[in-house]
Amino acid sequence: MVSRNISPSVIGAFIVSLTVSITLYSIPPEALPFLSPSAIQIIRGTLIILALILLFEKLLRIQLLNKILLGLLFGLLAGIAFQAQISEVKPVGTAFLRLIQMIVVPLVLASLIVGTASLGDPKKLGRIGLKTFAFYLTTTAFAITIGLILANVFRPGSGIDPQVQAQLLQNYKGLATEKISRVGGGASVMDTLLNIIPTNPVGALSNGKMLQIIFFAIFTGIALTVVPKEKAEIVIKAFDGFNEAMLQIVHMVIKVAPYGVFALIADAVGSFGLAIIFTLLKYTLVTTAGLILMTLVYPVFAKIFAGFSPIQYLKAIRPAQVIAFSTSSSSATLPVSMDVAEENLGVSNNIASFVLPLGATVNMDGTALYQGVASVFIAQVYGIHLGIGDQLTIVLMATLASIGTAAAPGVGLLMLVMILKQVGIPLEGIALILSVDRLLDMFRTTVNVSSDLTASVVVAATEKQLNPPKEFKI
Ligand code: ASP
Repeated sequence: MVSRNISPSVIGAFIVSLTVSITLYSIPPEALPFLSPSAIQIIRGTLIILALILLFEKLLRIQLLNKILLGLLFGLLAGIAFQAQISEVKPVGTAFLRLIQMIVVPLVLASLIVGTASLGDPKKLGRIGLKTFAFYLTTTAFAITIGLILANVFRPGSGIDPQVQAQLLQNYKGLATEKISRVGGGASVMDTLLNIIPTNPVGALSNGKMLQIIFFAIFTGIALTVVPKEKAEIVIKAFDGFNEAMLQIVHMVIKVAPYGVFALIADAVGSFGLAIIFTLLKYTLVTTAGLILMTLVYPVFAKIFAGFSPIQYLKAIRPAQVIAFSTSSSSATLPVSMDVAEENLGVSNNIASFVLPLGATVNMDGTALYQGVASVFIAQVYGIHLGIGDQLTIVLMATLASIGTAAAPGVGLLMLVMILKQVGIPLEGIALILSVDRLLDMFRTTVNVSSDLTASVVVAATEKQLNPPKEFKI
């Protein structure tokens, strides 16, 4: 909706900044010899953001979520239209990303200490933990099975043009080798488990080791229920106040999300170029179709356990989905997911503060589905037959690999290398899929975050700690 009483100078400023920026993006820099190329970049980048600010803050009177969605759409269009040139808006996206990442560690620590302490009963915590893990393992195994079925039925890897294959292997060889070397030998299962116990909680906080932070926060929360009340109370109150302040920061930061999302998407689309999708069209389509299918499974859970209508549910979780899509990081999305769970879905603080940080770290349904499709795809390209035993190994490996792996952009690809190693598929095969990985990361992170949110709803509903509000707050 366009607001009334807009001053003509605002409209003028909007038209001028938009036209000048689009013109500067469209003409070659040589056409303006009096301006250096870097000056042109600064001017057009600043003006396109200015046009967006005028549009969103002065011209349109729409809800914040719609502004974020428009930011995403405009980012997509700008990326397609201006390609790599649009990368000068990236700092706006990076600033937004850093602002939400800034809150993750303090928010998880404070909210989990308060959540555990207010639960009051370690037994209850054990029950919630079991339910959460059961949900995470089941949905991850389900997701990867869908991925494997789709890849076996649609066979995206057979019939790929040998010339395209050779070119992809050649072009992405260096990058693939670098990724493979980053995986190394991989820690043993025992080491991964032992690593959950921090030897230095402050070190865990400063390095953002999520599982270690969760472990320490839960212990502290439990201890606070045991120490004398008058001593526990001040600590809990202080963390509670701190937690509120962190959530307040989320509300402030989310106001700049339309610009951050625009910049992140424009830069991502501009740098990978949508044309590459066509070389790997079948693989990209099969993976995204599986991921979209998966996002339709979660509303069914929300309906069965909590009575949410599917449309209402998808609307409620959309802010977190959009941020996940544009940042490609479940962990960076965490502050927004926690806010969405509490404000839009009515999940109690103690459930949200436990289920969501854990989910961001160990629950990656989208990633698992992608790994299923990708491993079968690479095997098909190489003409390797994967028997039922191999495919079961993939299910097991992908489910286990997601535990203890940080939730950051591109991590799914590194986990894929471990899986390929296990089933004996040539590792350099990842060169085949690297070109579309950034795009698929956006989709799979959205699924990962949707799954975490659904777990929080299911657990809260079965614990009678769900109190959906009348209207969505963010
Ligand atoms: N980017 C994903 C996440 O953070 C992980 C991955 O699949 O690469 O959830």
